[in-house]
Amino acid sequence: MNSQGILIVVSGFSGSGKGTIMKELLKKYDNYALSISATTRQPREGETDGREYFFKTREEFEKMIAKEELIEYAKYVNNYYGTPRAYVEEQLAAGRDVILEIEIQGALKVKERFPETLLLFVTPPSAEELRRRLIGRGTESMEVIEARLKRAAEEADGMESYDYFVVNDVLETCVEDVHRIIRAEHSKSCRNKAFAEQIKRELKGE
Ligand code: 5GP
Repeated sequence: MNSQGILIVVSGFSGSGKGTIMKELLKKYDNYALSISATTRQPREGETDGREYFFKTREEFEKMIAKEELIEYAKYVNNYYGTPRAYVEEQLAAGRDVILEIEIQGALKVKERFPETLLLFVTPPSAEELRRRLIGRGTESMEVIEARLKRAAEEADGMESYDYFVVNDVLETCVEDVHRIIRAEHSKSCRNKAFAEQIKRELKGE
């Protein structure tokens, strides 16, 4: 069957827990590669350059755009975020499933450019739970939390553009759900046309 990796976009409201799900997925299975984005936002406590993000100045980021080093980029609550191209292309060619953890504008741009991209949307069970998690995380000021909740309400309008919803209630279950969806995606007939052709030829004795 097809050995080419699948490009997977994971979006979800800020505070949906998508980052934790991805970390667990990568720990548990070894065929996934997580793309590290570039951003102009300030590092949060505990974040390291080159691990969570490549932290860039606005000028550096704009240079990356001009040199077409990004597959996509978007502005999110006053900062730039973008996906470096080279890593994604290398990993896909090596047969790994590459995960982009990006917001909706970027997700739709990727889908337009690469229509075979699998789009997953992670959501908490309810809006109340989202609010509780954002406040509980304690990494942002109330003002930023309000801005992110407002953005969540806007992003919810685009949820239907995604291929699958993943409700993040119990972490373990959620990780398995994501893994199963991706495994199933590999078996889709449209991703395995060469395999079908080969079997047909063999059956005809060619
Ligand atoms: P945070 O500041 O919480 O790390 O990220 C804010 C939002 O930006 C999240 O929804 C995250 O998924 C999104 N994001 C992170 N990297 C990228 C990227 O490379 N491109 C786009 N379009 N969004 C990104």
